[in-house]
Amino acid sequence: MNDFSPGGYRALLEAFRVRGYEVRGFADAEPSQRHLILRHDLDITPEAALPLAQIEAEFSMRASYFVLVRGELYNAFATPQAQAIAALKTLGHEIGLHLDASLYADDDAAIAAGAAAECAALEVLAGVAVRTISFHRPVARLVGRTGPIAGRDNTYEARFVTEIGYCSDSAGGWHRGRPLDHPAISAGRALQLLTHPIWWRGTTPQAALDAHLADEVARLDAALAANCKVHTPGRARLVR
Ligand SMILES: [Zn+2]
Repeated sequence: MNDFSPGGYRALLEAFRVRGYEVRGFADAEPSQRHLILRHDLDITPEAALPLAQIEAEFSMRASYFVLVRGELYNAFATPQAQAIAALKTLGHEIGLHLDASLYADDDAAIAAGAAAECAALEVLAGVAVRTISFHRPVARLVGRTGPIAGRDNTYEARFVTEIGYCSDSAGGWHRGRPLDHPAISAGRALQLLTHPIWWRGTTPQAALDAHLADEVARLDAALAANCKVHTPGRARLVR
């Protein structure tokens, strides 16, 4: 079985449970306890999150899903993405803001103002209070800082990446070590596990992106046909 598949994710959650880990949120995880924070950054599309979110719900685990409001790759307010976000909420998961701080001037006041505006938009969309922010591809200065941003916790605060262990599947692999091999696990301490749902489709990272690209082209093709009388569907293959 491919680790990076829904079945692999289920097995990983089971392995944490067998080791006595309990899933907690950012607000109530204790560094010295066997607490597991399940964080997902939705970089490519919220729809990719649903298989993992359903598995977590089966385990009665509440994860945190972070949504881009100003991303280049999806519109959170468009119907398929908004429906996916609503489904995550219905399954009981936290909805947080995934913030690309590079869109704002590199000072705390500008980033806080941008975060406040994006959180307000996301709260309207999701119908929940946004309590946590995660940075998208943060610069070094933003990792390990302390204090709230726009009144919210952020996932790269020192307590969440230093006091609590941190492990990520960036670029579709455990390039900095597998989660169960993290020193926090052998020490019986808390871990923040960041996964990006797009990588958990049971394929290579490139194949996952290829499939997503094909889906998006098909969707754009249909949307153009629905909105423009002059567009004949099926032309995407002609414009490579
Ligand atoms: Zn990101």
